[in-house]
Amino acid sequence: MSKTTISQIHDHKDQEVTLKGWLSNKRSSGKLHFWELRDGSGFIQCIIYQDNVSADVFELGNKITLESSVEVTGMVAEHPKKPGNFELQVKNLVLVGDSPDYPIGKKEHGPDFLLDHRHLWLRSKKQWAIQRIRNTVINAIFEYLNNEGFIKIDTPIITPNACEGTTTLFEIDYFDNPAYLTQSGQLYLEAAIAAHGRVFDFGPVFRAEKSKTRRHLTEFWMMDAEMAFCTLEENLEIQENLICHIAKKVLEKHRGDLEILERDPAPLEKLKAPFIHMTHSEAVAELNKKGSDIKITEDLGGDDETLLTEDKDLPVFITHWPKDIKSFYMKRDENDKYALCADLIAIEGFGEIIGGSQREDDYDELLKRIKEHKLSVEDFQWYLDTRKYGSTPHGGFGIGLERTVGWMCGTKHIRETIPFPRMLNRMRP
Ligand code: ATP
Repeated sequence: MSKTTISQIHDHKDQEVTLKGWLSNKRSSGKLHFWELRDGSGFIQCIIYQDNVSADVFELGNKITLESSVEVTGMVAEHPKKPGNFELQVKNLVLVGDSPDYPIGKKEHGPDFLLDHRHLWLRSKKQWAIQRIRNTVINAIFEYLNNEGFIKIDTPIITPNACEGTTTLFEIDYFDNPAYLTQSGQLYLEAAIAAHGRVFDFGPVFRAEKSKTRRHLTEFWMMDAEMAFCTLEENLEIQENLICHIAKKVLEKHRGDLEILERDPAPLEKLKAPFIHMTHSEAVAELNKKGSDIKITEDLGGDDETLLTEDKDLPVFITHWPKDIKSFYMKRDENDKYALCADLIAIEGFGEIIGGSQREDDYDELLKRIKEHKLSVEDFQWYLDTRKYGSTPHGGFGIGLERTVGWMCGTKHIRETIPFPRMLNRMRP
C-alpha cells in the first residue's frame, strides 16, 4: 500500500493507496455511498460498496459528516467511461476529526454569511480554485521579472511618507509619532534602481478606501517594478509582456480550475502584445461617443472602464493624463500639460489593473511639486537625493494582484481573490 495525493493518483492505477483529506460531498443509494474527498491537491470520488467493506466501515461511511477529516484506503480504478478519470474503491475508512453541523451547505448563502465564515468558505471548490490560480499568478510574476533581470527589493511597510495621496492613508502610532502603512513601495524602489537597475517589490499595501466597490480592498497585494534608463514605451512593453506571461501560465496549469469557475478561457487565449494604446483625451472622446458624460479633466470611473473595453479583445493603455489628476512624482510632457503615465484597463469589465508612469527625474521640478502638494520637504529629502546624485530617466508600474487574479478567474468581486479580505466594513475573520 502506498501513500499518495489525489493529484498523483494516475500513477497508482490498480494499486491500493491511502488518501488523507476531508469529506467535501456525499450521497448514498442503497448499498453504495459516494464520497467526494478533497486532500488539498485535488478531488476524487470514493465509492464505498457494502459488499467490499466491513459492516462497521459501511456504517461509518454513512455517519461521517461533511468536512470531517478522514483517512481512506482503497483501490485506484480508472473510470470505465471516462479515461484519465480515477476513483477509489474503498476498503477501509478512519475518522480523524469529526465535523458536526458544518455551516456551509449546498444551499445558496449570501455574501455576508460566506464572508463571516471565510475561514471555512476557503474550502469550497470555487474558492479552492481561485487560490490555486492566485498562487500561479504570483509565481508567474516572479518568474517573468527574474527572467527580465529584475532584483527583488523589499520595501518598508511602515513609512513616514504618503505616496498615493493623503486621503487613503492608514495612520499608526509609532512610539508617539505618526507613521503610515505603505500605499506602495515605489518611492523606495526609485532609490534602489541606482544600485540595481531593475527592481521590484511584492507585498501587502494599505489604502483607507472609503468607497465600497467590487474593485477596492483596504489591504491588497501589489507588485511594483521600477527601471532605470527607461522610456514610457519600454515600460508599457514590459507590462503587456508580463500580462501575457501570466495568462499563459494560468492557461497552461489551470484548465480544470477555470472549468470549476465556469470561466471561458477564450478571452485569455486571445491576449497578445502589443495591447491597444490611446491617450486620455482619445479615451474620453470615445466614451462620450458611447454615451458617457465623462469630462476631459476627469478620471475614468469603473463604468467608463467597462464601457471603453466592452468591444475590445485586448486591454487598453490609457496614456497622457491631465497632470492635475495624477500623482506629484509623474513626469510631464514638454508642454507641462499631461502626465507621462499609463493605466492599463483589462478587458471583460475587470477595469484598471496596472498604474504606471515615467517619473519626474529633475530635482528642482520635483521639489516644486512636493511643495505644491503641501508635502513635507523634510520627509521627502531622502527621495529628492535620488535626483541629486546620478538621476536618470526612469519609470515603473504597480500591478494589483487581486484585480489580476479576479480577471484571470472571471471573478467579478475582488473579495474572493484574497484569502481574508479587508474592506471598508470588514476586517474579520
Ligand atoms: P483606482 O483608481 O482603481 O482606485 P489607483 O489609480 O488608485 O486605482 P494605483 O495607485 O495606480 O491605483 O495602483 C496600482 C494598481 O493597484 C491598480 O491598477 C490596481 O490594480 C491596484 N489597486 C489600487 N487600489 C486598489 C484597491 N483599493 N484594492 C485592490 N487593488 C487596488
